[in-house]
This record gives sequence, C-alpha cells and structure tokens, in this order.
Amino acid sequence: MKRIVSIILAAVMLCSTALVFTACGGSSSEKKELHMATNAFFEPYEYYKDKEIIGIDAEIAKAICDKLGYELVIDDMDFDAIITSVTSGKADFGMAGMTVTDERKKSVDFTDTYTTSTQVIIVPEKNSKVSKTDDLEKASIGVQLGTTGDIFVSDYKDAKIERFKKGADAVLALTKGKVDAVVIDKQPAEKFVKANEGIKILEEPFAEEEYAICLKKGSELTEKINGALKELKDDGTVQKIIDKYIGD
Ligand code: GLN
Repeated sequence: MKRIVSIILAAVMLCSTALVFTACGGSSSEKKELHMATNAFFEPYEYYKDKEIIGIDAEIAKAICDKLGYELVIDDMDFDAIITSVTSGKADFGMAGMTVTDERKKSVDFTDTYTTSTQVIIVPEKNSKVSKTDDLEKASIGVQLGTTGDIFVSDYKDAKIERFKKGADAVLALTKGKVDAVVIDKQPAEKFVKANEGIKILEEPFAEEEYAICLKKGSELTEKINGALKELKDDGTVQKIIDKYIGD
C-alpha cells in the first residue's frame, strides 16, 4: 500500500514539474518577435551592410513591427525558399521585393502593395546579341531561380535559360560572357550596372509589377500589417524610406 502511494505521489510530482516547465516554456516562446523571410542579395530592397541586413524592405518591415509592438527578426534564405518558409510557419511573413502573382496567391496571402517595379533586361554594353525584347527568344538568359524574371523568360521555348540562386551570380555570368542577357527587377538591375563595368539596361521595360508582403493563408497578421502599412503610406514614411535608397 505504502509503495503504491509513493508511486502515485512521485507521478503527481512529475506531472506538476512538467506543468511548471510547460508554463515557463510557454511564456518564453511568447516573446513578441516577427520573423521575416527574405533573400538579402537584392539591393536596394534587402542587402548586407557589414553584418546587418538593410534596405527598403528591411526598414518598412521594421516600421511595421514598431507600430504593431513586435521585434523584427530577419531570416536570410534563397528566394525560392521564402514561400515555403511562410506556408510552413517557420517565418511569419515574407518580404523580398516580392511580386504579387496569381500563381503565388494560390499558396500565400499578400498584403496591400507598398511599391511597384518593372522587369528589365541587362546586356553587355558592346556587341550585345540582345538589343530588344524579341531578341531574348533565341538568347541565353540568366535569371534568379523562382523569380518573375524566371517565370517570364520560361515562355521562350528556344531560349537557353540559366537559373542562379542569386541575381548577382546571373550578372557575374553576364560579365563573363556566359549568358547574353539577364532579366531582373529594375532597381537591383541599376545597382548591378553601377557596380559592374561594361553592362547596361535596355530601354524597353517589361511588365509593371507590384511588390507586397506575403503571409500564410488566413493569417490574422495580414489585416494588422495592412493597417500599419496604410498609416506608414499615409504619413509619408514608406516614400521617405524608398527615397532614401533610390532617390527620385
Ligand atoms: N520581384 C521578383 C519576384 O518577385 C524578384 C524578387 C527577388 O529576386 N527578390 O519574383
């Protein structure tokens, strides 16, 4: 009898210890952090300066988190991993100069847009095989894997498409003559052209695109972020951040 009682007692003690632990664990995991999934090789939207990730998206995200009372944590990954990170709940939202597309809307929700962009073509300054959009049809084209640039050129059946993990790697291939052109978003393209000799952007732009933040389908954060974003647009903060990195 005594033995049974002590076994029961021990069990009760174990349970209560476990309960205390769960409670403690619960409170520590309630730290108010929001994880942003991004690919930090996309200047001026997100890029490293020393060890810190800065840029338009990083600053807008910080301003949103400040408004909502969260601490922003930026998780850097390949661009094509961002949506999975969001749908699996590893990251709370994705922000990466990400274009709103119908295809992506099948797996994530998007907030209201915060800016627009276009896809452009970067080519060698001299002796370029590509001098207009139609020339892409038979060219070798460098793109960043899983981006709208990739999706766009994938329609060209006779083109040879080289998919890179980073936009910078596609541009490097262009400067080495390994591809004829690179299709990428306008602002990063301008940064790449500035940083590399002998390449230029073709005048003819592609489709207009809208950038927005993506979240897990049905996330209650979407509405909150939209509220904060609206305030930040209305009071000029978003524009101020964009101007800081892009100028006029
Ligand atoms: N805007 C493009 C897209 O959404 C590229 C984004 C990026 O490379 N970070 O696909």
